[in-house]
Amino acid sequence: MRVYTCPACNEPVYFRNLGCSCGAELSYDPEQDRFVQGAAWCSNRQKIACNWIAEDKDGHCRSCSMTEIIPDAFRDNNVSLWSDAEFAKRWVLSNLSRWGWFTNNDAGARPRFHLLSEDTRKGEKPVIMGHADGLITINVIEADPVERERRRDDLSERLRTMNAHFRHEIAHFLQLRLSEDDTFLKEFRALFGDETADYGEALKAYYANGAPPDFEQRHVTRYASSHPHEDWAETAAHVMHLTDIVDSAAASGLQRGDRPTFGYDAYAEPDAEALISQAVDLGLALNHVNRSMGLQDLYPFVISPLARQKMVFTHGAISNSRRSSNAVQAQREFSPAPN
Ligand SMILES: [Zn+2]
Ligand SMILES: [Zn+2]
Ligand SMILES: [Zn+2]
Repeated sequence: MRVYTCPACNEPVYFRNLGCSCGAELSYDPEQDRFVQGAAWCSNRQKIACNWIAEDKDGHCRSCSMTEIIPDAFRDNNVSLWSDAEFAKRWVLSNLSRWGWFTNNDAGARPRFHLLSEDTRKGEKPVIMGHADGLITINVIEADPVERERRRDDLSERLRTMNAHFRHEIAHFLQLRLSEDDTFLKEFRALFGDETADYGEALKAYYANGAPPDFEQRHVTRYASSHPHEDWAETAAHVMHLTDIVDSAAASGLQRGDRPTFGYDAYAEPDAEALISQAVDLGLALNHVNRSMGLQDLYPFVISPLARQKMVFTHGAISNSRRSSNAVQAQREFSPAPN
């Protein structure tokens, strides 16, 4: 993620900001990928601190307009969970627009979201996260860090965050869009296996038996071993994690050896091998930094050669959509400015 600048005073502004310390009230324009002053605000700004500009006829921003159902707001807690979930969604959508996805020049379908809470007026109602035919369901309860950590531990996962949930579910949607191309499907099957294998049976077997002991030799996570669809979603989510680690490090001027810093656009990097190597290097360094504070590792994964090969293919597939990205983006890629 970039570090932005205030249009009024040029000081740094972060993606979540609603204003600048100079007093300017700001909003974010996802098409231009910059903060602006004076634009109409998303109508969810007061409710959930959405800082994007209004785009649709209801006054919603591009991200909020993709949300069809919001949590039952009978409790303040649900509103704050919704707010945190939408923040993670905006982050991931902004990342993906750097590759051209869901921008004005992208004529393809956009995902739809149901952001649901298990805590409803009618009592506790389980919410299963997932993607089905363009519809993504997210359980906003997991925006609560205690609840999320409990589930991470139950499922023996190494990482569980809202950014990861959105990246994973949107990856399923991207696969749907990419599968319109037969060449993609052929290469996908050669690497990930037959995605037409019975999904329900595969998941049942996974939850009954767990991952094979040598899963790490083929998959980036335990869950990725459950079915080719999940392998793709986990792999693509990791490509997004790693690209954003490198991009955020470069945007904040973190330098490691001769690695690029200010002005480097990780989303414009065509060399997936180079990108993964940089990210793994940075990950190792930042894991060590996190340990100084007793925090969890930033990137607690080991990438096997086969998982890496899948990542390289996935990076090629999802970043190729930038072919359709707009001229503003193309210009910015070569701009030496830090934003
Ligand atoms: Zn300012
Ligand atoms: Zn909004
Ligand atoms: Zn999935």
